[in-house]
Amino acid sequence: MRWSSLFIPTLRDAPAEAEAVSHRLLARGGFMRQLQSGHYSMLPLGWRVHQKVAEVIRQEMDGIGAQEFLLPAMHPASVWQASGRWESMGDEMFRLTDRKGADLALGMTHEEVFATISQELNSYRELPQLWYQIQWKFRDEPRPKSGLLRVREFAMKDSYSFDLDDDGLDRSFDLHHDAYQRIFRRLDLDARPVEASSGAMGGSASIEFMVESDAGEDDVAVCDGCGYAANVERATAALEPVENRSSGDAPQSFPTPGVRTIAALAELDHPAVHQVKTLVYNVDGVLTLVLLRGDHPFLLQKFTDATGAIEVVPADGDEIKAALGASPGSLGAVGVTELPIYADEALRGRSGMTTGANVDDQHLEGVDVERDIAVDHWLDVRCILDGEACATCGDALRVVRCIEAGHIFKLGRKYADAMGVTVLDAEGVNRVPTMGSYGIGVGRAMATVAETHHDEHGLIWPMSIAPYEVVLTVVKVDHEESMAVAERLYEELRAAGIDVLLDDRDGRPGVKFADAELVGIPLRITIGPRGLDNGQLEYTSRADGEKVDVPIDDVVARVVDAVVTGRSAGR
Ligand SMILES: [Zn+2]
Repeated sequence: MRWSSLFIPTLRDAPAEAEAVSHRLLARGGFMRQLQSGHYSMLPLGWRVHQKVAEVIRQEMDGIGAQEFLLPAMHPASVWQASGRWESMGDEMFRLTDRKGADLALGMTHEEVFATISQELNSYRELPQLWYQIQWKFRDEPRPKSGLLRVREFAMKDSYSFDLDDDGLDRSFDLHHDAYQRIFRRLDLDARPVEASSGAMGGSASIEFMVESDAGEDDVAVCDGCGYAANVERATAALEPVENRSSGDAPQSFPTPGVRTIAALAELDHPAVHQVKTLVYNVDGVLTLVLLRGDHPFLLQKFTDATGAIEVVPADGDEIKAALGASPGSLGAVGVTELPIYADEALRGRSGMTTGANVDDQHLEGVDVERDIAVDHWLDVRCILDGEACATCGDALRVVRCIEAGHIFKLGRKYADAMGVTVLDAEGVNRVPTMGSYGIGVGRAMATVAETHHDEHGLIWPMSIAPYEVVLTVVKVDHEESMAVAERLYEELRAAGIDVLLDDRDGRPGVKFADAELVGIPLRITIGPRGLDNGQLEYTSRADGEKVDVPIDDVVARVVDAVVTGRSAGR
């Protein structure tokens, strides 16, 4: 293509709302434009990258025997009601009503619809099946941000496996695991597989593919000693032993005027490790106490994963006062029998603890948790912190910010069961198949590459997904010989199957060089009168900035060689 006739609206400055590097550079490079928060138009350059990312994914899915579908983006409420997710998806789901009054949803994911299609499977002989699509998804994100990283409308590759038994599911899961590693290698993304929460998807196991980046929204605990890696939403750590203080026969109340925080109480010689922190939540409408050690943060995702609760919201002051007789800062669970009490595992066996007395400005000391508190459920709900010891090898865990680039789930039989899917096994008995579900966001992958492949001049696309692989930059377009050489190289490179861009714009060379760097084209050939006099053209590699002079007749072979090598990197 010729730059003079393309729509590549580069910008000197990023839009004011753009904070993430990928957002700034994709907007400045003319790859995309925001229509409204969370919704982006792909401009021609952006769509070329998007399609190349999709093609890498498609090739690797086809490579494990997956078959491509295309399902509707708009679904009847009935399929979501059948799985129970019409309720549980809550405000995340876009819903609408048609002219006949029928309830509809815009698909956030497609477990229900694929499971509906799988009703046509009859026999174990037809299994396993691996089905995928690249289709638009809709999620009513409360806070869309960071450009293509957190959006309300996005293309996703989602795939689904159907197997007769757990061994089959393990195989389908492992096939996806390996395919994902190949996909991310080809995108030049250093994506680490980590243990993850299964969240609203349900199921028995899930792995996220995480790329370290400050623009991410997930924290991952990593152990460099043994290789343990888990999203903090489910990460565990070894607990350092704490020597209990003495408890006496019963808790003793003491006055604490104005003391409302863990820190303030710690100053009165009740260190945070010897405090019980009492949180009050409405859990699916039931007022509930959650107890943690004073210095341990509460991790909501662990709580919802462990309890299956759908709506967990902090109780308000009036509710708390009515139920417990005190305000936050003086709350405790000693003597509470009317409300469900959940306690973090780190409180097990602890005594000599201090907690609120449920009387304003009073606390209790000498609390033996198991003796004095009617704990209904023990669970792990604490968020581990950077530097805590690995539970496996004892090395210090590092908590790093990451972008979730992919997520694979073992779903089990939940959806197939809900949709009434059965096949006959070898004995002629009806069996419910077990499912897996596997996702990669296409635009998010593109943004993740942008986050990790750039410098102060702009983007640096890997060859595998570059919008164009080489740009021929003509320094003086009114110089006849320059244009003649450029046209000849352009035709030869096109004939060799190279994505070549001819920058034939009548403009200052500095502007043209800067644009080529901003949009991140991997190779540049500079064609100017001075070089032509010597029979040489300047060959520049975007990634390392290396410039070499290459005889004109060698340019095509050199470019083709570099492009072919670059395209197959990571394979
Ligand atoms: Zn370790």
